[in-house]
Amino acid sequence: MNLAKCPYCSKKITYPEAWHLKKKLKFLCSECKKNSIPTLGVSGKIIGGTIAIISSLLSVLSFFVLRAGVFVLALMLFLIFVLFFLVFPFFIELTKTEKLN
Ligand SMILES: [Zn+2]
Repeated sequence: MNLAKCPYCSKKITYPEAWHLKKKLKFLCSECKKNSIPTLGVSGKIIGGTIAIISSLLSVLSFFVLRAGVFVLALMLFLIFVLFFLVFPFFIELTKTEKLN
């Protein structure tokens, strides 16, 4: 898995930078000082959707089939979301600001 690159100078962003991007509307490159727009790539959307489906299936399964307690269910959902947030920065893509205008 690769982290996003600056669309202007191809400087790779770091993991913490990608992590913080999810809260930001713009990314300022430390190398060329140009702004780009962080977006979630297609694969990120697919994975996010899959995780949403899996977690709802898990809720139903554990509640009706496994008869697991609320604690087990919460723990499973928590682990799924932790996993998603760990891989999330790899799915961020950077787009040049001009493209959106
Ligand atoms: Zn740059």
